[in-house]
Amino acid sequence: MSYLYDLWDDFISLLFPRLCYACGDHLMRNENLICTECYVVIPRANYHKEDDNPVARLFWGRCKIEKAAAFSYYTKDSRIRNLIHNLKYNGIREIGFELGRIYGSSLKESGFISDIDLIIPVPLHPAKRRIRGFNQSESISMGISDAISLPVDINSLVRKTGSATQTKRSRYDRWTNVDGIFQVTETMSLSGKHILLVDDVITTGSTIESCTNELLKIEGVKVSVVALAYAIV
Ligand SMILES: [Zn+2]
Repeated sequence: MSYLYDLWDDFISLLFPRLCYACGDHLMRNENLICTECYVVIPRANYHKEDDNPVARLFWGRCKIEKAAAFSYYTKDSRIRNLIHNLKYNGIREIGFELGRIYGSSLKESGFISDIDLIIPVPLHPAKRRIRGFNQSESISMGISDAISLPVDINSLVRKTGSATQTKRSRYDRWTNVDGIFQVTETMSLSGKHILLVDDVITTGSTIESCTNELLKIEGVKVSVVALAYAIV
């Protein structure tokens, strides 16, 4: 019976090949989303193992962030870049969950998350969320949550929509200026908490800075940050 099943499985994969979302090679039967080679080859930044790291340094003198880290880093045509592209633009949200789960276990092992209370994904603009159907940072957060057993809060921090000041700005300004575009809707449940803010990619850090500034307005709040990748500009 299992032989027949395997045969059927092979037949199906001939018609609908399952490919690795990082390198495009065929996946083996026991592989899912990412092939074994890519798991090994994708560079781990290991920033969570040292307080002084490139992502943490990005926020020095800008906003008070307790700890900051990224799972990997972007290089040209890197496999992690392909994964994040497939997650964001091809709607493969399972990639976010899977990478989040893997990173979450490392974060737990190192003690990085030992005093974290809850996880908040960087909110996506509602219009973008409608088009994409999901928020990729939320998928990553769910994976991390699965590994570290802490709740994900997707309601307390929101992205404001079409405020007067936003629409008056030039298109370029709207892309580059993220200051004041986030809003905290719930302060009671967050007061005194250490929040783990989760993003897909950190480039200039301005989105994280803007979220953090809003969150730090709540009494006693502390913020730490993780992302799947750090894009070196
Ligand atoms: Zn691969």
